[in-house]
Amino acid sequence: MKQEQIDALRQHNIADQQLLIDGRWVNAASGQTLPAVSPIDGQPLCRIAAAGPEDVDQAVQAARRSFEQGVWSRMPPAERKKVLHRIADRIEAHHAELAVMGVRDNGTEIAMAWKAEPGSAAGSFRYYAECVDKVNGEIAPTPEGTLGLIHKEPVGVVAAIVPWNFPLMIAAWKVAPALAAGNSVVLKPSEDASLSLLRLGQLCLEAGLPPGVLNVISGTGAAAGDALARHMDVDILTFTGSGPVGRMLLKASAESNLKRVYLELGGKSPNIVFSDAPDLAQAAKVSALGIYRNSGQVCVAGSRLLVQREVHDEFVDRLRDIAVKLRVGDPLDVSTEIGAVSSARQLAKNLAAVQSAQNEGARLVVGGQALHPIEGGHYMAPALFDRVTPNMTLAREEVFGPLLAVMPFDSEVDAVRLANESTYGLASAVWTGSLSRAHRMVRAIKAGVVHVNTYGGPDITMPLGGVRQSGNGHDKSMHALDKYLDLKSAWIQL
Ligand code: NAD
Repeated sequence: MKQEQIDALRQHNIADQQLLIDGRWVNAASGQTLPAVSPIDGQPLCRIAAAGPEDVDQAVQAARRSFEQGVWSRMPPAERKKVLHRIADRIEAHHAELAVMGVRDNGTEIAMAWKAEPGSAAGSFRYYAECVDKVNGEIAPTPEGTLGLIHKEPVGVVAAIVPWNFPLMIAAWKVAPALAAGNSVVLKPSEDASLSLLRLGQLCLEAGLPPGVLNVISGTGAAAGDALARHMDVDILTFTGSGPVGRMLLKASAESNLKRVYLELGGKSPNIVFSDAPDLAQAAKVSALGIYRNSGQVCVAGSRLLVQREVHDEFVDRLRDIAVKLRVGDPLDVSTEIGAVSSARQLAKNLAAVQSAQNEGARLVVGGQALHPIEGGHYMAPALFDRVTPNMTLAREEVFGPLLAVMPFDSEVDAVRLANESTYGLASAVWTGSLSRAHRMVRAIKAGVVHVNTYGGPDITMPLGGVRQSGNGHDKSMHALDKYLDLKSAWIQL
């Protein structure tokens, strides 16, 4: 990652974008477009086509046609594997371009986006490429005189709706296993970060993915997203985003064709620091980044920090010292630690949450104000709150911004109770020097992910998903592949 390369790429003009349907780039049938606005400086980057129901229908029909024709679903697995590897090759060849384009679109600091976006997307395509020819069926232990075969088959048309925070990484977590399983896909990026995914569509075509197998339709949630969710010929809807939209999607499925819906939603993840943590300085540093990186716009962010009372004051002091020193600024500067907030709307939401936390009696230790390192952009100083109580909004609701709520606890039982006092269950962490306590906590915490003496682990081999209102189903790992396969039983009388 070189600053000169990034500086050169950020000057590139970005052309207006069309929809990718059936291997062709087309305008929306209505001719409507949306602006792509950079949070770095509030300036427009280009216009993107805004798909409506007619375009969604065209994209789903193209996906269905390609699926039934078998151009991909019945391609020999070894050939499919080669194409997925070539997609990874194309992503790697365009690594810098994709990373810079994505940051111009959503404001994530480049130091993080570089690895998390094209880096991890290429890794996902490679991982699932390697799975393609390892999906075996089964023979069931049926009674003598019968043969029970369990086939694993692609499901059909998969619709993927993704958010703006890590568009390429999250889309790849869905598109790569869906394609590896032999499905055809319609991908809808967020209207706030479509550029890198439209580019991914082009790279997939160049890699030899047959037309219609991956369609990419930009547009609003209310128009394009809703039409996809209600389409009668979509078999699976796989979604990452907010809880309220997740609810709408379940309703849309119930009111249409009962398509299978996988939801990866938000969280209010507890990060628990015991006084026996092996290294409090390290715990403070990792915990601060665990909430503040990407301006808190990380689904697994450790936004609730539970600290054992003996070390509470010392730990808050450490966090304050780290928070004030974090470099907030131009996300395309390689030394920036915290980039831009994704939109003016999100910044306003964050600032309102700061005000509301203070009104409810939390103490703002540091940060929480808008910053202006670049005129017209959206930036915020990481906010640290203590004296937060479990009933406060800041302890209960996801903000999706750089706001950390600190609460003290006395005992392990107390910590478990506070940690589980949430409607969410996405991620969590425990800092302790006791192996026994670590294992007890892993079992006791109601969450899809428990970290021990660390926070965040981007490895594709581990499943990521939530329990309770953080969703269902998992992205990543071999388990994600199963989501996009159907089981078919064949009973044979011998
Ligand atoms: P969002 O729910 O507003 O939007 C997500 C996607 O849904 C976008 O593509 C949007 O256009 C679409 N959408 C909006 N309304 C729709 C509708 N009525 N019908 C169909 N589609 C619709 O979420 P966001 O603001 O883009 O992302 C932030 C949220 O995503 C946070 O809650 C965050 O925690 C969550 N998230 C979760 C994970 C995870 O893995 N669990 C990862 C990243 C983000």
